[in-house]
Amino acid sequence: MSAQAPSDDLEQRLQGFAGQSSGASSEGPDEVNQAMIRHWVEAMGDTNPVYVDDGAAKDAGFPGVIAPPTMLQAWIMRGLRASQDVEAARAAGTAQGDGPTDRLMSMLDESGFTSVVATNCDQHYERPLVLGDRVSVMSVIESVSAEKSTGLGVGHFITNRMDFTDQHGESVATMRFRILKFRPRTEAAPGPEVTGAPEATARPKRPRPSLTQDNRFFFEGTQEGNLLIQRCSGCGTLRHPPRPACPTCRSFEWDTVKSSGRGTIYSYVVNHHPKVPAFDYPLVVALIELEEGTRLVANVSGIATDAVVIGTPVQARFETFDDELTLPVFHPVDGSGIEDTQTATDSKGAH
Ligand code: ZN
Repeated sequence: MSAQAPSDDLEQRLQGFAGQSSGASSEGPDEVNQAMIRHWVEAMGDTNPVYVDDGAAKDAGFPGVIAPPTMLQAWIMRGLRASQDVEAARAAGTAQGDGPTDRLMSMLDESGFTSVVATNCDQHYERPLVLGDRVSVMSVIESVSAEKSTGLGVGHFITNRMDFTDQHGESVATMRFRILKFRPRTEAAPGPEVTGAPEATARPKRPRPSLTQDNRFFFEGTQEGNLLIQRCSGCGTLRHPPRPACPTCRSFEWDTVKSSGRGTIYSYVVNHHPKVPAFDYPLVVALIELEEGTRLVANVSGIATDAVVIGTPVQARFETFDDELTLPVFHPVDGSGIEDTQTATDSKGAH
């Protein structure tokens, strides 16, 4: 454990941040108001009348229209321009940039924990916000964890607590936001699951699809080597991704049709980082437009990543990743002249 001595000192300094607050509470720019609520519920598709109708809200036992609880953060956002001004001032060295959170992040950066990922967000509501409320927020670094080993790398979990109060200083809500500040793995220092001969090591399985009543047919179809598209029984409209009702005629009745698997690359990204052990990189993730008209997200293989272009004709092949997972992977069609450029990544991609 003697090799850990330098980080023991870091641990102590990190723990010194626990309980430090961002200073004065800051007040949201606008009071809780009907216009912002209306835009929010329309964007979210939330039709609960207690957010827009005073009578309905009173019938439900509220003093009047209430704000959707999950709108909490909307009331304290500074807006894009104000946020950009702060960032610009910080970059120019004219802002303090020395709040406890900034200092904690700098300390972790300097110790090599340069990457960040959000891991949890929990909100607790004391009471519904009503029209006219004025929300303020104060942020506290609630805890900094000891060094932890995670799938992403070694790092520290940081929990920030935001205390929301009303115009009387009474608590209305609390939010805990947790991040992992970690040291990214490098090729020179691979993590335990990729050491040794790759072929000799059990490769982690690809993530499982989250099956629902609506999408189960799709993945059962791919297991059988069929690419199925949901079809409305009422009007015949095809739809993907799967969902309960037809967006055209609202019918809940549906069946499926089998796709030819032919299509074109409608759009794509080439993913380099972060590297998830179950996948090969660079990884082409594309939106494929099937000749039947629907689009789906899938991997593209058999093509050099710098040769991928929008409009490339592709054909689905079914790739079995393990005994539970077979998925369509799209390849450039024969004769397009592109498949000749395939690289060694294709031979690895079949596992
Ligand atoms: Zn329909």
